Amino acid sequence: MAVFLYNSLTRKKETFEPLKNNLVRFYSCGPTVYSYQHIGNLRTYVFNDILKRTLLFNGYEVKHVMNYTDVGHLSSDADTGEDRMEKAAQKEHKSAQDIAAFYAEIFEKDCVKLNIMPPDIICRATQYIKEQIEMVQVLEEKGFTYRTSDGIYFDTSKVEDYGQMGQIDEEGLEAGKRVDIGEKKRKTDFALWKLSEKPGLRQQEWNSPWGIGFPGWHTECCVMSSKHLGKQFDIHTGGEDHITVHHPNEIAQAEAAFGVKPWVRFWLHGAFLLFKGEKVSKSKGGLYTISELEEMGFAPLAFRYLCLNTHYKKQLHFSLNVLEGAANALNRLHNLILEYGADPGDQKTKSEKKYSNEFRDAINDDLNMPRALSVLWSVLRDKDLDGPAKRNLALKFDQVLGLGLENLQEKKQDAPEDVLKLVEEREKARKDKNFARADAIRDELLKLGYSVNDTSQGPKLKMQNSKLKTQN
Ligand code: AMP
Ligand code: ZN
Repeated sequence: MAVFLYNSLTRKKETFEPLKNNLVRFYSCGPTVYSYQHIGNLRTYVFNDILKRTLLFNGYEVKHVMNYTDVGHLSSDADTGEDRMEKAAQKEHKSAQDIAAFYAEIFEKDCVKLNIMPPDIICRATQYIKEQIEMVQVLEEKGFTYRTSDGIYFDTSKVEDYGQMGQIDEEGLEAGKRVDIGEKKRKTDFALWKLSEKPGLRQQEWNSPWGIGFPGWHTECCVMSSKHLGKQFDIHTGGEDHITVHHPNEIAQAEAAFGVKPWVRFWLHGAFLLFKGEKVSKSKGGLYTISELEEMGFAPLAFRYLCLNTHYKKQLHFSLNVLEGAANALNRLHNLILEYGADPGDQKTKSEKKYSNEFRDAINDDLNMPRALSVLWSVLRDKDLDGPAKRNLALKFDQVLGLGLENLQEKKQDAPEDVLKLVEEREKARKDKNFARADAIRDELLKLGYSVNDTSQGPKLKMQNSKLKTQN
């Protein structure tokens, strides 16, 4: 069955096929590790994960590379302002590398909580300085660069279809607003190597043929992706903000340096998560982290469920209320799977095949996870399927959805100690046929916000809808 993906380069949904045999070579732009990743950033990594899981589900082998930007990403995408890593290091009185290690570790823990599969290779920009210098040298030799007093720049007028993906109309850009482009020849030209203003002041700077400085942000992704995936590869992803600057700049310089076209076959972009109608960004602050949501009582996988419930190309309007809805749906799902028991029936019925096909159609149609979830719910509601068959299908779908259905059996009831004690006491009362006491405990549990369900595998607790203090 074919996989269809929307390609930002051609602005069309296309049939996906790897360039080489069965192997998909896949690069995703990773985080700039100068601060916590908020749930907007993490939405983009959940999107990468469902893409990867969909490819694996279809029998492809996937080689996934992701970077950590630990140098060169300036506060403005126009190559001006401070280096985000240097600024964070100063603010927190730490070395830039300690900052990078600290935030990368937290990011990795968040990914584990969200069931995001780790990339096969993670690379840091600071470990590829030599290769980045070499790439700029190649571009210089080929005549694509010029020098200003603050660095070496890529001359975008030398590329015929610069900005094709972002539909960048340079004249429109210039006419629309007056922008200070400094010594750059064009607004769209970008830094390949920035010179340190005063060598010795930055924590991270290196010698180069042009003087002491540091690499431009776009060069790192070209160098690291092609180092591990080859000079042409299959898929490159990022958030939708990369469509207009970062990715056109990567494409321009990679195609110029490597002499290949297209450098990458498929470009996929995840839409932003919005909060109170705004495109939140890490540099502006003001968006939750996964740990903050956990402190409010939300399981990280509730956030994953929420992400799956909106197509990756649609902006997700986040609020605690919509997250609450996702948390309730996930709880219902987990409770149902627990009730179904573990024995899978090995006789495949007609409807099981039909549901499997519907699920595959949905995920293969440009990762339509909302439709895939609704197939899952149709399975769970189907009166003609028995429990084990439903569970079987749900676990199969969960290879892509990643909602933690597999390990539910072993999961301990997640409730405070006093609640668990009451459950135990109620079990004892039931065994002793003291039903009045058992009912009284059930009422007590309800007051504490828990309902209890007696299943063939013992009592199951369910948290009632929490009353949110903050209504957003
Ligand atoms: P950064 O750490 O700023 O380099 O961003 C890491 C990734 O998160 C990039 O792919 C961005 O495109 C993406 N991103 C940033 N803000 C959001 C948001 N509000 N919603 C979704 N993705 C985002
Ligand atoms: Zn990148």
